[in-house]
Amino acid sequence: MSPSISRSLFVLVAVVALSNVASAASLPAARHADHDHAPVQKRLPSANWYQRDDHPAQPLFKRGKRATTGDGVNYAPVGSSEWSAGYPQGKADPATLPKEWLDALNAAVAAGKIPDVPVSTQVNGGNPTYGSLDPMSDQVCSTTYKCRKNDYIWDAPDGVWGAGFDDGPLPTSQPLYQFLGDNHVRSTHFMIGVNILNNPTEFSYAFETLGDDIAVHTWTHPYMTTLTNEQLVGEFGWTMEIIHNSTGGRLPKYWRPPYGDSDNRVSAIAKEVFGLQTIIWNQDTEDWSINQPGFSTTPESVAASLNKWITGPKTPGLIILEHELTQFTVQAFIDAFPSIKSNGWNIVSVTELDGQSAYANADGDDGTITPVVGIFDNSAGGSSAPSNSSSTNYGSSSTSSSSSAAAPSTSAGTTSGAPPASGAGGAKQAAGAGSGTSSSHGAAPTTNLSSSATSVRWQNLLGDVPGMLAAMLTVAASAFVFV
Ligand SMILES: [Zn+2]
Repeated sequence: MSPSISRSLFVLVAVVALSNVASAASLPAARHADHDHAPVQKRLPSANWYQRDDHPAQPLFKRGKRATTGDGVNYAPVGSSEWSAGYPQGKADPATLPKEWLDALNAAVAAGKIPDVPVSTQVNGGNPTYGSLDPMSDQVCSTTYKCRKNDYIWDAPDGVWGAGFDDGPLPTSQPLYQFLGDNHVRSTHFMIGVNILNNPTEFSYAFETLGDDIAVHTWTHPYMTTLTNEQLVGEFGWTMEIIHNSTGGRLPKYWRPPYGDSDNRVSAIAKEVFGLQTIIWNQDTEDWSINQPGFSTTPESVAASLNKWITGPKTPGLIILEHELTQFTVQAFIDAFPSIKSNGWNIVSVTELDGQSAYANADGDDGTITPVVGIFDNSAGGSSAPSNSSSTNYGSSSTSSSSSAAAPSTSAGTTSGAPPASGAGGAKQAAGAGSGTSSSHGAAPTTNLSSSATSVRWQNLLGDVPGMLAAMLTVAASAFVFV
């Protein structure tokens, strides 16, 4: 069974698994009781030190709650109804995309920057195919078939462990986030847009409390090569938008294709329209299939794979595909962590392997931001409702979009109305260029996961499920799944 087919089968499996997650989404009741009476910041070195959430000292130490502490724009609070209303609740409708995004796509096509690669075909969950074209050809270069391109990131530098986790944020992310914080490990979270929408508490914890890096894993986790250009713009654009508007205006610089499925056309749209560089991986734990019906993967078999790589050569460094998808995937990393450390790996957030920021316009999670102008809506609501007419001028479609949302003047190189600069290196704008910016987040207040009561809200993704599984999924018709 090919990895692609087996992963597609996992779509069904994950419906069951995540249904269980949904029913046990929040942390144990005892912790909620603790929180009600004496909220303890679990990351502090001693549980004896804490301040009430309403203590006057709290504002002195919490980083920016929202508003003008990011890029100078008053974004809707993460998790608020105003915030949620700005995004598609499921699949993005290509007919209602912001005009600026389509303009940027059309400009890139007209400039010859988007290679002419046909939309791939996928049958019964198999690997996408291209008719008579060889997926390994120079024209296509499919990453599903492990066609390597020089401007993709597959490997880490020698001795470096490029830490990253896919498919969050989810309730299952909670123990991972707690562990990462307790052990002072910074990592990248390749997030699914609708999961951000449905799990804002976990999102804010990852970004605000952990200070971890946020990267793009698309809006609804499709096989990207099977989508049209316009559908691709929706998958990239909405994910970029929700991250941008929920991190005080930071623009992600990296993406990872779901199932590792990209090609020359897809990666060109990512890069030329949205400035995203592609990160793949050089080892795959298959952790998503641990203990899933129909699969032989066990915690022990994943641990054995991890141990082989951890104790193996350090040239090149490791970028291992890992997930925050189930309790088993999370536990696999937690169990391996002592060995990663004792074997001398230098653990670095995978989007910071170049020593720079995970964001195109900001010095990391806590640094200066150069406001983005033109392609993303900076109105208070965060974005125009996706049901708006595609002819609507995106930047002014919200009634609250006004001069108050105007970005501070920026350095040369930031052109109003233009898409972000393409390419990872070129997209990083001059540090300190934005006037009136601060070093604080503009996103949600510091979040204590023990107060989380979020649950997975299922999205109907039947249209995204391979045909052989679609009928089976009608049992759990409102499911959203991802590997
Ligand atoms: Zn994924």
